[in-house]
Amino acid sequence: MPRLPFPVESRLPGVGTTIFTVMSRLAAECGAINLSQGFPDFSAAPELLDRVSHHMHAGANQYAPMAGIPSLREAICARSEGLYGTRYDPEHEVTVTAGGTQAIFTAVTALVRPGDEVIVLEPVYDSYVPAVELAGGRALRASLAPPGYRPDWAAIRALVSPRTRMILVNSPHNPTGSVFTAGDLDALAGLVRGTGIVVLSDEVYEHIVFDGARHESVSRHPELAGRSFVVGSFGKTFHVTGWKVGWALAPRELMAEFRKVHQFVVFTVNTPVQLALADFMSDPRRWLDLPAFYQRKRDLFREGLSATRLDPLPCSGTYFQLASYGRVSDEPDTELAERLTREIGVASIPVSAFFADGRQDRVLRFCFAKSDETLSRACERLAKV
Ligand code: GLN
Repeated sequence: MPRLPFPVESRLPGVGTTIFTVMSRLAAECGAINLSQGFPDFSAAPELLDRVSHHMHAGANQYAPMAGIPSLREAICARSEGLYGTRYDPEHEVTVTAGGTQAIFTAVTALVRPGDEVIVLEPVYDSYVPAVELAGGRALRASLAPPGYRPDWAAIRALVSPRTRMILVNSPHNPTGSVFTAGDLDALAGLVRGTGIVVLSDEVYEHIVFDGARHESVSRHPELAGRSFVVGSFGKTFHVTGWKVGWALAPRELMAEFRKVHQFVVFTVNTPVQLALADFMSDPRRWLDLPAFYQRKRDLFREGLSATRLDPLPCSGTYFQLASYGRVSDEPDTELAERLTREIGVASIPVSAFFADGRQDRVLRFCFAKSDETLSRACERLAKV
């Protein structure tokens, strides 16, 4: 094509390609073990795959209802009620989405107006702030400090103003692996009480919480549930990140606004996969077994790291392990991540990518949603660093 005959005024001038795409591409180019972008390298349950095939062959290949297949909406609501005690109405209070990212984008687009402020906690997952800015809002960042990356509620409260439309939280937290306590939810509730602030809670790693802790969902907290969007993901729970199916839960008035946007963003999510997921959700062990499954992998990976000069930080949830490389080098994390990919063949994510100002905590993020064999090969290579 010839060059565009006019300049494009970017809506997102500061944004390039996401770090996940950049590092996964580099890993592929170098033939490196890819512990960067978060996705399992093992297969989903064959029964789940069979159900998709079954529904496709049975003719379920046309549009699903805009908000999602009724049986799947019912299964999502039943699961939430069983786990967290809050009953959402499948008809009005849940929408099936094309993944967690779309749910978050849609909720932000539906609620945030030009000039509104949205509080986020930094390091912040890379899609949140662009969503806010495309809506004309302004993101205000509260810092989570290493090694525990715990929220400082007094500092967060200091950011609240009459312009605050939304607080966007994420527990278990990507990239740090920190998790909210019940006390965090009380602090959050105290902060929004008496305001019109909407909480958007990204809980896509809700079933990956370790050491006997329970996931503190905002939907467990009646006061918060009454003003929050809660976002979930099948990709993380059933090892099918590439299917891009998730959901949003919210009180009816919020969900009505959400659906106004959803219907024009994706309209609806693919039918046979929704039907298959609804079938597969009949057995709660499929999510109840997940903490133990991933805790074993976390421990295996941390054990492997102990033979290296990388120092693992606390990891209470998610399938990400942060490691500090202070003993290895003082180069910026982006340079080290690239060098490790090229030279020793292990790709990771530089955590500075989750900061607006490129803050250097000198930590890398490794995804341990991998076969035991992949994890031990990666650790052998990392031991050379
Ligand atoms: N959530 C995944 C991660 O943190 C990435 C998803 C994506 O590439 N957009 O690695």
